[in-house]
Amino acid sequence: MKVWVTSFFALLVWLTSFSVTAHAADELVVYSARNEQLVRELFDTYSKDTGTRIRFITDKAGPLMQRLKAEGANTPADLLITVDAGNLWRAAEEGVLQPVDSAVLSKNIPAHLRDPGNRWFGLSVRARTIVYSTTRVKPEELSTYEDLASARWKNRLCLRTSKKVYNQSLVATMMARLGEKKTDEVVRGWVANLATDVFSNDTSLMKAIEAGQCDVGIVNTYYYGRLKNKQPDLAAALFWPNQKTSGVHVNVSGAGVTRYAKHRDSAVKFLEWLSTPPAQKILAESNMEYPANPQVKPHPMVAAWGSFKQDTLNVSNAGKLQSSAVMLMDRAGYR
Ligand code: FE
Repeated sequence: MKVWVTSFFALLVWLTSFSVTAHAADELVVYSARNEQLVRELFDTYSKDTGTRIRFITDKAGPLMQRLKAEGANTPADLLITVDAGNLWRAAEEGVLQPVDSAVLSKNIPAHLRDPGNRWFGLSVRARTIVYSTTRVKPEELSTYEDLASARWKNRLCLRTSKKVYNQSLVATMMARLGEKKTDEVVRGWVANLATDVFSNDTSLMKAIEAGQCDVGIVNTYYYGRLKNKQPDLAAALFWPNQKTSGVHVNVSGAGVTRYAKHRDSAVKFLEWLSTPPAQKILAESNMEYPANPQVKPHPMVAAWGSFKQDTLNVSNAGKLQSSAVMLMDRAGYR
């Protein structure tokens, strides 16, 4: 009996040491277009939990894509993290990602927030919505993105430049919903209603509303959150448009496993973890975004802006129709 017990424990010790060794060998290389502060928090949390060693570089989405393509099969990258469905869609089109069939990801991430081919998965949701002056506009006057093209908003609208992918995605989604002709009318109406030149970013657009240059605009909610934190008396509020129709335009930040991943299993496991509550909280709260996993609640400050129906058209449409949207905006004189 004693011999049996001893050898049982010997076996247990051997198994334990094996699993520790296996863990220590787990490693992962990530290319991230999301900022270092955010990804470092995610990586540190995951490494502490699992022992996986994560090496990473951060850069803008464009250069990271170029790098992945140039490196081809020699890339050290296992996972690409980036913002905007347009960028994720392009990465998939360029062939630098591979499909991942995962029951965990299918369960945690709603179908409209991931690639129908499973090459990338949305991990946080960014809502692009209407912002209005609380001194000059009553929320009852607002209804849809399309209505911002109506005569009542003449010389009262502010827009960010059409060069920004966020607006390209918004117009691309509109094209998928309304068709080209109707979208063209809407965009021309917006341009006709502009109170000022287009802005280079959402924050200066909101400051223009505050300063009385215009009364309404379209922004991503996290920029509103950041400005509101700095200026609690900001005389602007968010409005959720299209609640009786298509819903609020949403986009994602997300990730995909690279085509030539050397640590594919680790990459899939990490990607799955990113869809679970502890990671979803870090991802959404660090930038006041919305969790992609509907089981996870947004930060209380974000939740205080109210809940809304989001557009459930697959976000990959933003990529598919991006170049058509760019051309449409150009023809309509939206700079
Ligand atoms: Fe942004």
